[in-house]
Amino acid sequence: MYQCKDISDEVNNYIDGDLPLRKRIGLFFHLLMCSCCRNYLQQIHSTISIVTVAKPKEQDGTDTNALAKQLHSLWQGEDNNQKDH
Ligand SMILES: [Zn+2]
Repeated sequence: MYQCKDISDEVNNYIDGDLPLRKRIGLFFHLLMCSCCRNYLQQIHSTISIVTVAKPKEQDGTDTNALAKQLHSLWQGEDNNQKDH
């Protein structure tokens, strides 16, 4: 599992899409759990988006969104199960 310090190390590669899928998912799960790193990524993202307006990576954006939705629903499902129990 990733730690917060790993996120700051890998976040640039994550945004660039340089990470293998397995690492991206690892980072993503940390981000789902850790609001600190979510805020951190959001800050970086808003900086990055200024740059990416000039050259949008459409394919990469769609990919990440789909992955986000899948992981998010997965995460919510687990959470519901735990509450239910
Ligand atoms: Zn964190």
